Amino acid sequence: MIKKAEFVVSNTDPTKCPKPDRAEIAFIGRSNVGKSSLINMLTGVKELAKTSQKPGKTQLVNHFMINDRWYLVDLPGYGFAKVSKDRKVKWEKMISTYLTSRSNLCGVFVLIDSRLEPQTIDLEFVNWCGEQNVPFVLAFTKADKQSKSQTDKNVKAFLNKMEEIFGEYPDYFVTSAEKQGGKDEVLKFLDELVAE
Ligand code: GDP
Repeated sequence: MIKKAEFVVSNTDPTKCPKPDRAEIAFIGRSNVGKSSLINMLTGVKELAKTSQKPGKTQLVNHFMINDRWYLVDLPGYGFAKVSKDRKVKWEKMISTYLTSRSNLCGVFVLIDSRLEPQTIDLEFVNWCGEQNVPFVLAFTKADKQSKSQTDKNVKAFLNKMEEIFGEYPDYFVTSAEKQGGKDEVLKFLDELVAE
């Protein structure tokens, strides 16, 4: 259960995040995947995470305090069609620094658009997480946008790709911010993760 969710701080430099004195769980995905909507659904706070960041906006690591107990982190999205090389390099440096050095990081939710067939950019990212031993799970978003059978098909195709690469696939959730889908399962998982 999330009873309280408060914004703490935004950083451009991932080494300047708050003291790593409590459990932390991060959310990341392709821009427009539905990350802000999912965070807002989970916390029950409508505009906690700002939806639809524009490509030109500063890339920030946003910390939120949950239940006075753990940090939820909103990471900048990847995969804008028209971004400069410089911006991509900055994103990679920021994200790799954060994900590989944040000592209190318990897990990362990698968000995947359930409407799409497996996308190279997502596979590359989860591949990198696997190689770096970043503990991650998947959340397939926007499940309400198509039939259940179409969602199942896309989810299965992505998991199959992961199995080809790793020989296994991680825990995953199918979510809909629109219909509150997957909320209870994700919250239960978060509770267990921060209690460890
Ligand atoms: P972000 O860029 O990853 O933070 O994505 P947003 O949360 O801003 O969502 C991008 C767009 O997709 C917005 O127009 C949302 O309203 C829409 N969206 C996000 N999640 C869902 C969902 O579960 N169902 C539907 N139907 N639309 C969604």
